[in-house]
Amino acid sequence: MTDVFTPDQRSAVMRRVKGRDTGPEVTVRRALRAAGIGYRLGGCGLPGRPDLVMKGRRVAVFVHGCFWHGHDCPRGSRRPKANAGYWDAKRTRNRARDVDVARSLARDGWRVVTIWECELKGADAGRRVVSALRNQAAAVVSRADSASDSTCSSAPSRAGGVRGFETK
Ligand SMILES: [Zn+2]
Repeated sequence: MTDVFTPDQRSAVMRRVKGRDTGPEVTVRRALRAAGIGYRLGGCGLPGRPDLVMKGRRVAVFVHGCFWHGHDCPRGSRRPKANAGYWDAKRTRNRARDVDVARSLARDGWRVVTIWECELKGADAGRRVVSALRNQAAAVVSRADSASDSTCSSAPSRAGGVRGFETK
């Protein structure tokens, strides 16, 4: 799959969002850009700091590492021999936090989409991600989002009132 950015632009993007560039997340971003689905990075001030946010559609996307978030898959069920108790506790906390975060986002009217690292294997991973997002979120290009690595310029309104509408 070709990158839509030149190497120079790519480095600039990477610098800007430093610290959030895990391999799996990059795969997801690339797939969404290729499909013309807009998103924002940086969490938009939302609980749990979602990896990608589609503000216009009120969709919050998390890209989870299977080990850290205790996915029900071979990688996620792996137990390190050393300090097993420590890792178990840490992953249990992560899972509990994920549940809390998803709950509070849902309460605020967000749809939460979790993409697991193990789902991103294979040449057709990008296509599967896009189709999963389309199914779950009816994602279309929203003018509120740009099809690039933009960050959230302002925190979303926490007040009540009309939600999911953005000025165009
Ligand atoms: Zn997994």
